[in-house]
Amino acid sequence: MDLVNKFLALQQSLTRLGFQDGQLEQDVNAKTQKIIKSCCERLNVSRVSIWLFSDDQKSIVCSNLYILAEKKFETGIVIHEETCPHYFASLRQNRVINADNARTDDRTKEFLDGYLKPLNIMSMLDVPIFNEKGMFGLICIEQAEKQRNWDMAEISYSVSVADTISLVYAQSNWFIEKQKLSYLEKIDPLTNLENRLFFQKRINQTIDTAIKNIPCAVLLVGMDNFTQINDRFGYHFANQVLREISLRLDNIDLDLKYQLARVEGDVFAFWLPQVINDKLIDELVSKIKLQFVEEIKTPLDETIATSASIGVFLGPIKDLVDNDPIRKAELAMQKAKNEQQGSDCYFDPEWLTNHLEAVTLEREFIEALNKNQIIAFYQPIVKPDYPTVGISLEALVRWEHPEKGIITPYLILPIAKRLGLMKELGDIILEQACRDIRYFLDSGIVINKVSVNISSEQLFSPNLVAQIKRYVAQYQIAFSALEFEIVEELIAGDSEALSHQLEQLSNLGINLSIDDFGTGYSSLSRLKNLKVSKLKIDKSFVDGLPNNESDICIAQSIIGLAKGMKLEIVAEGVESKIQAHWLLANGCDFIQGYLVSKPIKAEQITDFLKNENALDKL
Ligand code: C2E
Ligand code: MG
Ligand code: MG
Repeated sequence: MDLVNKFLALQQSLTRLGFQDGQLEQDVNAKTQKIIKSCCERLNVSRVSIWLFSDDQKSIVCSNLYILAEKKFETGIVIHEETCPHYFASLRQNRVINADNARTDDRTKEFLDGYLKPLNIMSMLDVPIFNEKGMFGLICIEQAEKQRNWDMAEISYSVSVADTISLVYAQSNWFIEKQKLSYLEKIDPLTNLENRLFFQKRINQTIDTAIKNIPCAVLLVGMDNFTQINDRFGYHFANQVLREISLRLDNIDLDLKYQLARVEGDVFAFWLPQVINDKLIDELVSKIKLQFVEEIKTPLDETIATSASIGVFLGPIKDLVDNDPIRKAELAMQKAKNEQQGSDCYFDPEWLTNHLEAVTLEREFIEALNKNQIIAFYQPIVKPDYPTVGISLEALVRWEHPEKGIITPYLILPIAKRLGLMKELGDIILEQACRDIRYFLDSGIVINKVSVNISSEQLFSPNLVAQIKRYVAQYQIAFSALEFEIVEELIAGDSEALSHQLEQLSNLGINLSIDDFGTGYSSLSRLKNLKVSKLKIDKSFVDGLPNNESDICIAQSIIGLAKGMKLEIVAEGVESKIQAHWLLANGCDFIQGYLVSKPIKAEQITDFLKNENALDKL
């Protein structure tokens, strides 16, 4: 057999030995033993061993030795550089040491008395094992009793063996690193608890495999006021608090299998895949609360009290299939937090129905904007000498929902706000008000002014003025036919931009009024500096008139203030004659309310004006 074929024959199956069946065997020892045993048998040598450099590189340690005659493995011999400097020097040249006669070879003769003679070794073939950093060990092939003249096939094969061993080590290191990494992926380093990602995976696994009608539970424990602890005592102490709380929670003794995780900065979570008895959840809730009783010492040697709000999802696993149980427990936790810190709340499936309804309504609202379902109703604002002066109207948004009927602003506005569509909504009403002013003019209906509620989103929009000019031109109406209402909170801040915008509107000839006056905290001096011409007393102060002392006092002072500043005054939400009489007697200029009319469609205004009884009501 020529050398090449000999080498190929020797090498056959070597790689397979290291990576049997492609499996990632974790046990390096088992793998390397297989390799050196095979090497020993194939070369038919007395001993094959693996030696690894110590950390300081000054010695080599035998990590595994196979002895053919005894068919056994040994480990543990150490050789120090100081006892055989020539051998180490040769090793450091990163070359194969092929000592046919080990007893006379310069590189190995240092071993003669202490090693070669006692073991009767005649020949040595030492091959370095490398990793990406360099040589980290060697395999040592030894022939006892007779001398071996190592041929190229044997040397090449030995190098392959060394390479295979190197791969085994590399693979094992990779495995260890991977394990470390997957540990980091699973674990929150601050508390050593599972993190949210892994916690979620764990739940998903149970969902996939568990019997579907078994009840399970997720509890979320959200610390109250944690930001304050962070702000007051700093990041380090805040972390300490989290660690302390995590330890306490981890030590809760419960007659039920559970898994604890930290799912957010200050939120811990319990997962209980099998809840045989609901009472155990109540018990766990009480035990969690107990963990917050003991105060925690601060670096300033004070003690601080902590508390947490607990949200519980409890239900059969099948309920989890489409939904995220952590999210459900989160909703419950949020509710507990809002209601009372330190309390607990169980998730109610009805919330989801509400949520679903809200989402559907949001989607329908977006469609409604384009389907002319958003319209303005008008509520008359009248004066005692009506109708000679002409009435004013307030435009109030309504949604004509194809199935639900008329929807009022109390539902519409929060949706528009959430969706960031307040400006779009305002534009629709503004344009409709202008269009209806044209309609009133064309129908011979005498209207003094139409007032439109302007949101902050509209007011601060840079194209509001341009928009108004466009509508006014399009419908051929006067600017002075429009009035804008802004709520009191809007003028509470001291903003240059606001003054500027109001001035621009006023310069166009548009009247401005302050809506819901008395509910905000606008300063009188601000009011004086703004181009405002009207105040509207909020309905809440009108309700108690003419008997409620404090309403009387507030209404009188608002009227007094308005008069002093030469502002006109409107009372909103007037429902009874007696209220109207009191208001008019006390100097109020205009009355708006169900007493006169509810908000109605533009086409109904003619009928309203024809109805003489409307006057009698005042
Ligand atoms: P607001 O501007 O203060 O309008 C007066 C509200 O009081 C209207 O409610 C009106 O229907 C109601 N109201 C009037 N008289 C009476 C009464 O005698 N009794 C009772 N119980 N209520 C009365 P509405 O139409 O539900 O509007 C509520 C609020 O929504 C409005 O309060 C206004 O702030 C806002 N809003 C309405 N339309 C728009 C709009 O187009 N844009 C903006 N940004 N806000 C609007
Ligand atoms: Mg209003
Ligand atoms: Mg109002």
